[in-house]
Amino acid sequence: MVCRILILGGGFAGLYAARNIQRLMGRNVDIEIVNRENYFVFQPLLPEVAGGAISAVNAVSPLRFLTKGISMRKAEIDSIDPTSQTVTVFQGVQRRPTILNYDHLIIALGSGSDLSRTPGLHEHAFTMKTLSDAQSLRAHIIERLEHADVTRLPEVKKGALTFTVIGGGFSGIETVGEIKELIDRSLRYYPNIKKSEIRVVVLEFADRILNEMPESLAKYAQKNLTRRGIEIQLGVGVSGCTGTQLVTTADEIIDTRTIVATIGNSPSSAVSKMPLTFQHGRILVGRDFRVHGHQNIWSIGDCALIPMKEDASHRDDFAPPTAQFAVQEAKQIASNIKAAIGRQPLEAFKYTSKGSLASLGAGRGVAEIFGIKLTGRTAWLLWRVYYLAFLPGMQTRISVLWNWLMDWFSSRSVVQINSEKQHGVRDVLYRAGDRIYETGARADGFYTIVSGSVRITGIDENTGKETSRVLGVGEHFGERLLKGATRRIATAVAVDDTKVLGLTRDEFLKLAEGLPFFHDYFENHLEASGLGQVPVLSDDKH
Ligand SMILES: Cc1cc2nc3c(=O)[nH]c(=O)nc-3n(C[C@H](O)[C@H](O)[C@H](O)COP(=O)(O)OP(=O)(O)OC[C@H]3O[C@@H](n4cnc5c(N)ncnc54)[C@H](O)[C@@H]3O)c2cc1C
Repeated sequence: MVCRILILGGGFAGLYAARNIQRLMGRNVDIEIVNRENYFVFQPLLPEVAGGAISAVNAVSPLRFLTKGISMRKAEIDSIDPTSQTVTVFQGVQRRPTILNYDHLIIALGSGSDLSRTPGLHEHAFTMKTLSDAQSLRAHIIERLEHADVTRLPEVKKGALTFTVIGGGFSGIETVGEIKELIDRSLRYYPNIKKSEIRVVVLEFADRILNEMPESLAKYAQKNLTRRGIEIQLGVGVSGCTGTQLVTTADEIIDTRTIVATIGNSPSSAVSKMPLTFQHGRILVGRDFRVHGHQNIWSIGDCALIPMKEDASHRDDFAPPTAQFAVQEAKQIASNIKAAIGRQPLEAFKYTSKGSLASLGAGRGVAEIFGIKLTGRTAWLLWRVYYLAFLPGMQTRISVLWNWLMDWFSSRSVVQINSEKQHGVRDVLYRAGDRIYETGARADGFYTIVSGSVRITGIDENTGKETSRVLGVGEHFGERLLKGATRRIATAVAVDDTKVLGLTRDEFLKLAEGLPFFHDYFENHLEASGLGQVPVLSDDKH
């Protein structure tokens, strides 16, 4: 009977495992990959997408294209049931639950981000895990440059031109290098921004950056980035942030509109509720990748905690979450599953290092290949050659190479096709004294106070005198949207450190249209508070 192998996740670990199993066992197995997207994301290229060196479509490849002879299902994985040997997924427009069975299950779902431990980080930081993260970040940076070029308010310009990256690992350093290059190469289009007005900061809690690489290369990287105007603060983390500020653990308050968090790796939500053994937030597996207590459930890649030696206990005793490890694990798991099916002994995972490479942007990099350390342009070229060879599929390789050549000979585009991150209903944090909006500004949101308090100050229509009131938890402001207002008639300032739940104009108006009780509540509130009588200014309508 054909053995059915179900692979959860179509990233480096899942995709390469499927291809290796197919190569080793051919028609004797029925392989299916389940993945949220129908494409494979080459995560090491995401910083280049954020920096505009390559276009988003070239950092991904269609999974169906890379998995000929392997079934592919685009679905959201919900849960596994080891007793019945089934996995429940949600698929299609209706998101119907579908049960998939397996003889062997490989869990390769990568990792997510948990930024909830630092106040404000989850609400205000960009992450760098998915294609849309990279696209949103690029659009956001260009938006900040556009704004900084036209604003007349120095404090607004300062915040717009300050960019912070939290985490000095591979993804943090590659991201900061690329966004600095994007900014530097774009400045020629923004005559009102001086280079000296740009501030780019990396915060790293450890005493060095690029922990994954030898110290001498990390030192070179730090020197190179510093020379390019990137400020690296070591031994410093983030203690909190709002939409306009970041507070470091060294108590510095940085006015910034851009916070990129490359820290806080955590298991994806589907993984964390699986009935398996976890350690340090990852699925605990044996050296042969078998999940503890299960003969036919395996796990590799970023979601698995793979010991590299017996009695592993220290962090360094486990395989690190890198693409290079995931690809080698994928090769070994194929042999082990074949051995398990044939009742042969399994082999413990051994990693053969080919070295490590990081791009610093602006044509510079660091690399260690077979023990040889390289820096500067040679290392950067090697990085590009290596990743070009590493990319799955010839078509993707050609597209990426073409993008790189074009980037070399032409200027960086500042076209902002993708809109900024689509926020949806969101929590927003303000520090005491922060202005939420001011009189005369465009009214494009509605707010409810979750914690803290907000002072609303305006001019009384009848007396012409200033009025002021403080709103507390559960109270709301900005509801004149219901009357068609497009301008603020008051200024809202956080009295304490405050969290508000914000809805955009569209969201608020859609809820009012679709939910009669919601509409009636605000209609009554506006009448009772007298706000309903405040005329909507003529230039307020359009
Ligand atoms: C910005 C950045 C730069 C990096 N640079 C390097 C580098 O230079 N060198 C290096 O070696 N490594 C680098 N890495 C790390 C490397 O990319 C990861 O280690 C690697 O992607 C892990 O592979 P994986 O298959 O375990 O997870 P992933 O590649 O993340 O794949 C997991 C897959 O599972 C899918 N998935 C998750 N949950 C669900 C669900 N519930 N339902 C359906 N599908 C789901 C995801 O959509 C994804 O396709 C970098 C990472 C980042 C973010």
